[in-house]
Amino acid sequence: MTSLQDFAAPAWSHGFAALGEAFHTEVAPQPLPAPHWVAYSERVANQLRLSPAWLDSGQTLLGLAGCAVLPGTRPLASVYSGHQFGVWAGQLGDGRALLLGELLDRHGVAQEIQLKGAGQTPYSRSGDGRAVLRSSIREFLCSQAMDALGIPTSRALCIAGSSGAVRRETMETAAVVTRVAPSFVRFGHFEHFSYQEARAEHAELRRLADHVVDRHYPQCRDDPAGNPYAALLQAVSERTAGLMAQWQAVGFCHGVMNTDNMSILGLTLDYGPFQFLDAFDPAHICNHSDTQGRYAFHKQPNIGYWNLFCLAQALLPLIGEQEAAVAALESYKAVFPAAMQQAMQSKLGLADSRPGDLELIESLLQLLAKNRVDYSIFWRRLSHWVADTAATRNEPVHDLFLDRAAADAWLALYAGRIAPAERPAASIRMLRTNPKFVLRNHLAEQAIQLAKSGDYTEVATLLSLLESPFDEHPGFDGYAAFPPEWASSLEISCSS
Ligand code: AMP
Ligand code: MG
Repeated sequence: MTSLQDFAAPAWSHGFAALGEAFHTEVAPQPLPAPHWVAYSERVANQLRLSPAWLDSGQTLLGLAGCAVLPGTRPLASVYSGHQFGVWAGQLGDGRALLLGELLDRHGVAQEIQLKGAGQTPYSRSGDGRAVLRSSIREFLCSQAMDALGIPTSRALCIAGSSGAVRRETMETAAVVTRVAPSFVRFGHFEHFSYQEARAEHAELRRLADHVVDRHYPQCRDDPAGNPYAALLQAVSERTAGLMAQWQAVGFCHGVMNTDNMSILGLTLDYGPFQFLDAFDPAHICNHSDTQGRYAFHKQPNIGYWNLFCLAQALLPLIGEQEAAVAALESYKAVFPAAMQQAMQSKLGLADSRPGDLELIESLLQLLAKNRVDYSIFWRRLSHWVADTAATRNEPVHDLFLDRAAADAWLALYAGRIAPAERPAASIRMLRTNPKFVLRNHLAEQAIQLAKSGDYTEVATLLSLLESPFDEHPGFDGYAAFPPEWASSLEISCSS
């Protein structure tokens, strides 16, 4: 039994800080005026065994708004580098994030707790160290949404708002998100120490790799070839491949897949101009600042591989032989297509894989693209359609297509693939795979506009829907409906 006392004061530890001064700078947060709560996740609080009493205390609010240093924490900013939009950007680092330390969660896993937006650090460059309320709400909601979809991600405990003004394209107000992940180490951390250290021994690069292996990939020590760093590269490649397949399957566009935003644990990290697709457009670019479309939706799997190549180059001094690095990377080319096919089969409710399935999937995606069909609504309607063993009513699905005859032809093919007796069970599986609720841009925008006037009810409503995105939530169908006209004119940029 857990007693109340266990909850009283979180017990902080500092594994990352122990790596040494080369990896970080201790920085006090910069206070924001008049902090107040905007939102918090009971689910994450429970996971971290944080008591409502601790969360409710004024001291916790001050601490998580960056106005005070919480007892037991040691705020620090870490240094990393990275490739941004395909170009080596040199040193970056936590310009507005502060790691407070780690807490053991319910499952005994150490979770790093980070404040985002708590002021400048030595790595802020020309930035103000702040995050605006708008982007904080998007990050908070999306990280919970992804987790509930079963997609690896950093989480968020809460948002503290403030009256403090922040200049972006217009004047906005500042907020601080408390983020949670087993590690915030990025590919860019490895790139930093690989390129910084002219010395042949690469002591810091090795220390970082050992830290990540020991804490997160201990099985790499048992690598049959005796090369734990090649094994690490392979494990990260496989996780990243799996993540990319999950993003593509659910229609998630990250928007800024720079190597400094790539998690060494294969988590979705650094929510910026992300978007869940409305109409299915493989070439969709969600980041208004991405003028070349480098991070367009359909390019994400290749960019994931490109980023892993950067990681491989950074790890090469430890891996030693180029062939071992190349072989580790190769795993991506096998894992991604297999994971992608598996994900699409699940979306189609197919319990096994048969010849012809790839063609069935490919022809569907082409049809969805050609007809600009709403991606989430299509899958949800298809999941219900399957339940009808007579398969007589195509309307709900084919009404989504301009070319209804083509949709009917595809439905006939698909109906031929699932035996009538299997359909009810397939439908049940599909309704647990294809979400009814995703964080569409316009939903976030509505919650943000209200929040700007001090009303956070829409943030709370969205949180509750997105925490169980496969449930029907009677009465909330509007949140699962087509986007309004104005949604397509929303411009979400890197500005956050
Ligand atoms: P992002 O595009 O948010 O992943 O950020 C890229 C880099 O810029 C990271 O090093 C961030 O810490 C830094 N950065 C972004 N916004 C700010 C800001 N407002 N103040 C300081 N640093 C920032
Ligand atoms: Mg970033």
